[in-house]
Amino acid sequence: MAALTSTQVLDLFRRVGALLEGHFKLSSGLHSPGFMQSALVLQHPREAAALGAALADAVRPLGADLVMSPALGGIVIGQEVARALDVPAIFAERQDGALALRRGFTVAPGARVLVVEDVVTTGGSTRETMDVATRAGGVVVGAGSIIDRSGGNQGLSVPYSSLAQVAFPTYQPDACPLCAAGSTAIKPGSRA
Ligand SMILES: [Zn+2]
Repeated sequence: MAALTSTQVLDLFRRVGALLEGHFKLSSGLHSPGFMQSALVLQHPREAAALGAALADAVRPLGADLVMSPALGGIVIGQEVARALDVPAIFAERQDGALALRRGFTVAPGARVLVVEDVVTTGGSTRETMDVATRAGGVVVGAGSIIDRSGGNQGLSVPYSSLAQVAFPTYQPDACPLCAAGSTAIKPGSRA
């Protein structure tokens, strides 16, 4: 299968209405006029598989033994990357506010872990998932996401791959010009 270009990935998001414009509160706490609602793309298994295969091609040289994703946003793409790499996929989920492995998931000592999620903005949840993998005994060899909206500022300490870059501005809530103009940030996907 031919590699997906960044343009093709963004066209796919646009086609299913997953590229939203407005005033959003991101999971990082930052505000932004743009949001990538990956679940609207990943609900289509064929598209999810294609994105997973493309991301797997980019990270294959890292030789991962295991994919770990943060729940919920990272689970579907993590599964698809793992399928393409033919390795297991597990996920970390929030328990008392912190990401943790539950459900009996374990990491073999020294296992080479690839952290996968849908969108990287600040890199915060990727870093937190990397910490979970390390504490569980793994060695994090890299990270990947469908969309990189960090503007190159994700600051990850491992090799990082994405399929497309998006340059929406992000603002601290107290410095958000959209808030200053009187509108209220909404949490994407929630009922307004
Ligand atoms: Zn705002």
